[in-house]
Order: sequence, then structure tokens, then C-alpha cells
Amino acid sequence: MNPSMSTASPNVPSSASAPDIAAIVRQVIEQLGASNVASARPAAAASPSATSSFAGANGVFGSVDEAVRAATEAFEQLERLGVEGRKKAIAHVRRIAIDDAEELGGMEFAETKIGRLDHKIEKLKVLGEKVPGVEFMQSEVFSGDHGLAVIEHAPFGVIGAITPVTHSLPTIACNAINMIAGGNTVVVNPHPSGRRIAAEGVRRFNAAIHRDIGIDNLISLVAEPSLESAGQLFNHRGVKLICVTGGPAVAKAALQSSKRAIVAGPGNPPVVVDETADLDNAARSIIAGAAYDNNLLCIGEKQVFVVASVFDRMMAAMERAGALRLSPQQVDALTKRAIVMAGEGAHRHWVPCKDLLGQDASLLAKAAGAAGREGLELVFGETDNDNPFVPTEQMMPFVPFVRCRDVDEAIRLAHESEHGFRHTAIIHSNDVRAMTRMGRLLDTTLFVKNGPSVAGLGLGGEGYLSFSIATPTGEGVTTPLTFTRQRRCTLVDDLRILGSASAVRS
Ligand code: NAD
Repeated sequence: MNPSMSTASPNVPSSASAPDIAAIVRQVIEQLGASNVASARPAAAASPSATSSFAGANGVFGSVDEAVRAATEAFEQLERLGVEGRKKAIAHVRRIAIDDAEELGGMEFAETKIGRLDHKIEKLKVLGEKVPGVEFMQSEVFSGDHGLAVIEHAPFGVIGAITPVTHSLPTIACNAINMIAGGNTVVVNPHPSGRRIAAEGVRRFNAAIHRDIGIDNLISLVAEPSLESAGQLFNHRGVKLICVTGGPAVAKAALQSSKRAIVAGPGNPPVVVDETADLDNAARSIIAGAAYDNNLLCIGEKQVFVVASVFDRMMAAMERAGALRLSPQQVDALTKRAIVMAGEGAHRHWVPCKDLLGQDASLLAKAAGAAGREGLELVFGETDNDNPFVPTEQMMPFVPFVRCRDVDEAIRLAHESEHGFRHTAIIHSNDVRAMTRMGRLLDTTLFVKNGPSVAGLGLGGEGYLSFSIATPTGEGVTTPLTFTRQRRCTLVDDLRILGSASAVRS
């Protein structure tokens, strides 16, 4: 048993134990016409926020320092409420993500102007049941002739999180569930282009948590984030751990930081289709994954390598499944329009054009000189392996298809295109040996066979979900345990109830 799962602080009434003094005090204050629970200072003995200097901020701060100090205070308060407090806080994040999904998803879509509204909403709703919480916090026990050793998973304290524009609020909510389940609090430096929805979500989560358990600012946020504030968060003494979700630049910055960092870095997931594959299933799966939120997902299918003997049939299967095939001239036109060079000298590399990133397939069709249509989810076309769409994480619903001599060439080119990110790869095949060769060579964190990429996160496949998949640092799909430190508690010779009664020391 994990002792920390069953104890509540003697100073703080837990939900399980009557009477809930904080609730009574709030009720009295409400009856007196007081509207602001944060100012309910008389509840000193009952409310964890009674001594809080930041209560009422609901997590939104003008500076990194204030946000970290508020989150530190919230951490100390959360410790006093035990696992029961964590559970209650997480339940509010999940409930709001589901109940307000339409409104919050709409706000995220309106602010970021990328992706698809239906998927922005869905990404919030899946937080309800797919993201693990305190149930993951199992302790391990070693019991033997020399007594007992218990390994517990303890919080770090305040975690600094950097989140992407591709899923601003879903990443924050998902990180918050995992981190609070582990007993931590978090300060977020959101992407500047998704900062308003980030602040709105955080405000709603904290207000509900504060009303219920009396702790504000469990999830704190820098209202006007910048690269400078990200740097301040990395270096703040009060931040004990960093969790970064984003592209190559921020991943590199986090890996060079002096603090321990959990890095959910970029991907460029390749797909291999061989001659043994169910081509219609492969086509449906590629559309489901690559069209999801207009291919903003880091796990989304970005380029496809198909064995020559089934190439034409695979292209026909894609059309049957509803994708629009571009002609070679249209592919050329789109490539010139959608992928551009950036950087200087040795650092020159292809990047997606900002105005097409995350836009609808119909818009891409139009940019290619083809006619889009209502409900079109994905455009695709044949390219050479050296087309810039192949090595670039395009984050738009166009997928290049490369014709390969055989499955080994397909696997080799897939490997090259993934750049060693070791993020995600997909194969459609019924040849177990081909699957094995690809799995071993690409060495990715997620490897999906015969389904869409999202199946690798438990959406149509088994397992749990996170929007932060730690790749270069190796933690994989993050869970509450990712954000904990192991502590071992050893008792020598006693407490083990097996063995001879006469051997017990009196
Ligand atoms: P981005 O790298 O532009 O921004 C991500 C975050 O990092 C933002 O908050 C940004 O302000 C910050 N940032 C950027 N450069 C920084 C630096 N030098 N120092 C400190 N902070 C910095 O990425 P994005 O466009 O928001 O998101 C898309 C990228 O994120 C893609 O590459 C995608 O693969 C990746 N991603 C990875 C995962 C994962 O779980 N591995 C999840 C989502 C997105």
C-alpha cells in the first residue's frame, strides 16, 4: 500500500472526513454577500489558501517570478491536502475540458487560426478519460528476510512547462493532470500565439479548484510569454524540473539547460506501405492520422514510402478513401508555395510557409492550382525522395508519396526522413519480419502497425494519452510518474509478517 494515498493532513479537513469547514465558511460568507472566496481570510485554520498572498489571481501572472512564487505556495498547500486534494483538482481540469470543450476549442481555433475546429474540441474532450491521473501513483515494495523497503514516487515541486501553439490548452491541461497527480504544481510559458486561450483555460481551472479545495494557482501561467520569459523560467531557482513540448529550437535550448529537462521534441513521422498491406485500411488510416487537425500532430503521418509493385493501387486506394490526388505539376506548384528555405550557411533548412501551416486541404488544393471541395480532408501526390516535403515536418494536410523498389528501400528512406528524432513511425504490412526490421532501424518512441498514428496514443489503439511525448530524453508518452522522484524508505528486520514468530525481537 502507498501510505501517502490514504492519509489526509490532520490540519486540513479532507473530503472524505466530515465536517468540511472550508465549505461551511464559504457558505456563511456567501450568505453575508461576500463574492470573493479568495479573500476569506478568517478561514485560517481550514482553508489552505488562508495565508496565500496570491489567492484570487487564478493562475495568470505578469512575471515569471510572481508565477513561480504563487506556484510554490500552491505546492506547499497541495502537500497538506494529500492525494485526495490532487484527485479533486484533477477532476476539475477534466470536467472543464469536457464541459467547456466547444467554447474553449472555438477560442483556441479563433486565436491560433490553425487546425480544425472539430479536432480542437475533440482534443479537449479526450482529456477526460485518456490521460492518466493519481491511479498511476503506485508504490513498489521489496519484502525479504531483512524487512521492508518501500519505493515511493515523490513530487519535484514547481515544474516549468513550455507549450506549443499546435495544441495550446490541451497540452497545458494534459501536463497539469499528470503533474498534479504526481503532487507538483506548474508554471507555464505558453506559445505567444496561443497565450489568450492558455490564460482563459488556466483561469477557469484554477477558479474551480480554488472554490472546491481552497488552493489557487496550482497551474500558473505567464500572461505575456516571450523567449525572454522562457529563459527566466528555465533559470528560476524555484523551478525544480523543466518540461518542454515543441520544435527543434526549444528542444535544443532545454537539452542545454542546467536543470533536468523532460523534452517532448519534434517529429517527422514516416509511413511504409509494403506489398502485403491491406491497402484500403492503409489509405483510411493515413487520412485519419495526417488529416487530424490538419496534420498539426507531432505523431501525424508526414511522408509515405510505398513499394513499387503496389504503388499505383495504393494511390487509387487513397482516392477511393476520399483524398485528392494532385498531378505532378500541381505538386510542384504547391511545393514552391508551401516550403521555403530558412537559416544561414550550414544552418539553411526547409521550413513550412507560415500562411499555409495547419490550413485546410481545400486551401492547399487551391494553392496547387486544383479544385478543392467541401469536406476534403487531405491532398496527396507522388514526389521524388528529394522533394522538400519529404524531410520537412510540414504540419499541413498534404502528404508526399515516394515510389520505392522494395520494402527495404522504403524502410531505409523512412529512416533518413525521420532525422533520428526517434519520435513516431508507422508501417502497413502483414509481414512480421518487415515490421521488425523497420522497428529496429527507426528505433522510434511510437511505432504503429496497421492503423492511424493516433492509435499510438490510445485513440483507436490501446494505452493512454499525453500531448507531451518525451523523445530525446526518453520518458516516452508522459504520465504522472514521469514527473516524480523515487524515494526509498527502508525498515531493517521488522514489519515483514512472514517467518517464525519466535524470531521477532522483543
Ligand atoms: P515551437 O518550437 O515554435 O514552439 C514551442 C514552444 O517553445 C513555444 O512556447 C515557443 O514560444 C517556445 N520556444 C521556441 N523557441 C524557443 C527557445 N529557443 N527557447 C525557449 N522557448 C522557445 O513549436 P510549435 O510550432 O509551437 O509546435 C510544433 C512543434 O512542436 C513541432 O515540431 C512538433 O513536432 C512539436 N511537438 C512535439 C510534441 C511531442 O510530444 N513530442 C507535441 C507537440 C508538438
